[in-house]
Amino acid sequence: MKYKVLIISNNAKIEMDNTVDIEYIVLNSPSKRILEETILKTDFDCIIPLQAINKGNNTYNILKVLDSYGLKYFGNNYLKYLLVNEKPAFIMQTELRLPSEIWTKYNYYKNIQSLSKTDFPIFIESDSEVNYLLNSINELNKIIDTLFSDKIDELIVYKNYSFVKLFDTVLIGNIPNFIFASSDSTADELAYLKEISIKLFSKYKFKDFAGFKFAKRGDQYFLLSINSDKLTNKEITNVMHLNYRLDTKDIINLYILVSSFKNCIDSNIICELSKKLSHNIVLLILPLKIKQKCGIDFDYNDICNDLKYSFLNSDDSNKYEFIKMIEEHIENTPKCKINSYCLGDIDFDYDMYLSSYEEIPQAPRNPNDVLRESLQILNGQIRWNSPLSFYNICPPTMMNTVAASTITNIYNPNGMIDRTSAGYLKMEKQIIRQLSNLLDIDSSKSAGVFTSGGKICITYAVKCGLNRCQREFKSKKSPIVITSCANHFSIEDVCYQLGIEDCIRIPLTASQEMDYGEFEKCISTCIENNIPIACVIVSGGNTMHSAVENINTVNSIITSYVKKYNLSDSPYIYYDMVVCWPWLFFKSYNFHINPLKLESSLKNRIKHISDILINAKLADGFGFDFHKGGFSPYATSLFIAKNGNELFSINSKNGEIRKDSCYHTFTNSRCTTGIISAWNVLQSVGISGFQAYIANMLKVAETLSDTFEKEKIIVLRKYDTYGFATLIWLQSPELRCYKFSDIINSEDLLNENNEYIYQFTEYLKRNGAVNICVRYLPKYNFEGNIITIISLLPMTMNINGKVAGKIAKEILKIKEEFDKEYIKGSNFNFKSAPDNVPR
Ligand SMILES: *Cc1c(COP(=O)(O)O)cnc(C)c1O
Repeated sequence: MKYKVLIISNNAKIEMDNTVDIEYIVLNSPSKRILEETILKTDFDCIIPLQAINKGNNTYNILKVLDSYGLKYFGNNYLKYLLVNEKPAFIMQTELRLPSEIWTKYNYYKNIQSLSKTDFPIFIESDSEVNYLLNSINELNKIIDTLFSDKIDELIVYKNYSFVKLFDTVLIGNIPNFIFASSDSTADELAYLKEISIKLFSKYKFKDFAGFKFAKRGDQYFLLSINSDKLTNKEITNVMHLNYRLDTKDIINLYILVSSFKNCIDSNIICELSKKLSHNIVLLILPLKIKQKCGIDFDYNDICNDLKYSFLNSDDSNKYEFIKMIEEHIENTPKCKINSYCLGDIDFDYDMYLSSYEEIPQAPRNPNDVLRESLQILNGQIRWNSPLSFYNICPPTMMNTVAASTITNIYNPNGMIDRTSAGYLKMEKQIIRQLSNLLDIDSSKSAGVFTSGGKICITYAVKCGLNRCQREFKSKKSPIVITSCANHFSIEDVCYQLGIEDCIRIPLTASQEMDYGEFEKCISTCIENNIPIACVIVSGGNTMHSAVENINTVNSIITSYVKKYNLSDSPYIYYDMVVCWPWLFFKSYNFHINPLKLESSLKNRIKHISDILINAKLADGFGFDFHKGGFSPYATSLFIAKNGNELFSINSKNGEIRKDSCYHTFTNSRCTTGIISAWNVLQSVGISGFQAYIANMLKVAETLSDTFEKEKIIVLRKYDTYGFATLIWLQSPELRCYKFSDIINSEDLLNENNEYIYQFTEYLKRNGAVNICVRYLPKYNFEGNIITIISLLPMTMNINGKVAGKIAKEILKIKEEFDKEYIKGSNFNFKSAPDNVPR
């Protein structure tokens, strides 16, 4: 099988020698008929047009012909880049345009009168075909009237068209890995030209090559022309001869070589072509893989050279490649279906997919291929931005946070110390000041640190508290942590990590807050018995109910015992506000004037939380999750200590204050993307943004629960739930004759009903019409009965009250359908229900 190459030449006669593997057909300015006949007769592997428009007695657009036959050719697709190829339009779009004027039939006479000597030379452009460079008013006068002929209404006029220097740059390959520039340029000029050329190349998505002509006047560069749609070897040879001794044949072979990397053609042909080219060009452009195949010598330097393309180069000029990478690969993410909460295939077999990658490859692979393949792993990912996702408090990310994090990652600051992280640690401190002010604590004394999650915030708090009690409270007994059942399940883990054996959970009252009477008993027992209290963890809102406990009450109980027993210090109080911290933004809201026109039911629910949060300042430590209600990527959390010194000495046995981040964090190297994400969120959402978001989500929750209740579905603790969640209990159609109370009091009936709930949640995810994700939640404590329920927790602003009403009805419709099947005893083949899920 020969590799067949078609060259559509301009007038220059080109002769190519066929080889064993490659057959060249050269058409010299063919008529349209000849071109069409040729491309119909032969299946070409590579087509290289050296002109776009065939001129002469038979004028036609060569590229349009090729396009109309769906042929791929070396060059940039003409039709797609039509606008770009309208030279003036293209150049107008760049920041490198020359100042110009438009002269029309009606104003040109006046314009000529106001010209002065310094305006010359003048360059006149009518269309890309007829241009004039005029040096004096006489020359201008001679032609101007004829220029405004019947056909031409407008001219583009460039005054003072003289430059100190002209430059050509030519980029070949994609990514452009082969860049030529006129060689009489200085190093600075070259660097600039290279950067700007690559930027233009990427911005306008050129495919195979581009040639640019630049001019310099003073310090300013201008783009004069661009050649992107067709290959003319004139300008390319001009430039290339300066660096490499290549003739037309070489150039054509170079094009074939470059385009063949993309088409992944037979390595024999590539080898043959590369042998024909002067050696150092081949070494420059041949990918390592092909060098290996062609038996061209390589060593570790070649491997590094190959890998180098995947990094920012030394002058950052290839940074636009990265944008192209994102642009290309965002297309490769599994498809998003509008009627499904998840990406791509919900039943994607991850193990099967991963099994092809069990071995680490021997040699480097093309990073684009690897990236494309890796994104398959997103199949089945819940889209938090989907109004059909009600999974948990997982936030859709604001795009600016993703962009900020990604751009940060290109430069990869290390938040371990100032020197390695530009101004990020100052930015972190600014956020800490802002949130300290929101909490009403002294921002000149507080300190904080961005961490990888709310659990780590708890760890910081317990460690601060443990230090405090060990430094101040000299008891032989082992310290304990006290919290309530409303607080996070990870607290016991944290205690264990820190060597604390006991974590006492205070039971809740019906309103889902800690039972303060029980708490007081616990405190008094501990203090009376000289048991050190490392930390008291108070809920500043949980996921299920946004149950916010009152720091004021907790604090007064503690203070009274501290006074009574004359203790030297008070136990550390941590306010776990990771869920409800955005409610702090209502601190300054005028509920009376109500500027956001919140409905009164929403207002009351918001006010309930924000009134309690007013007392937050009485705590010693605080946690904020920006990856919960704060629109940020995982993991973006912030721990704040009211007394900064307690944080600064957290890792020091003798209490030494160490302000460099690496000494008072649990990490050494530290990611800074959380800092810039949170900063972007705070600056771009603002106070009323958070207020509006909370109001919207509460409206959604209210609509869901109202719609369900109307259909006789049990909504649990509707009036003790202040956040975004709605908890419902569904009854199996097979247990229709029982009451709710009968079922929850019988283990057998409960088990039967739990199975139904599980099957339904799976069916909801997978049924044919609309796929909705809710959370199956076993082991929920409802008035002492451990039951299984469903939790719906919306997070996205793509849902509002109205949409929520529709979705609730859809859920009910699907339930009706499911119930019919369920009674029939249909087997859905879903996996078995989990015993428990993390809260
Ligand atoms: C989510 C949560 C945590 C844990 O936070 P992560 O960011 O998941 O580590 C701790 N406390 C409460 C109240 C939470 O809701």
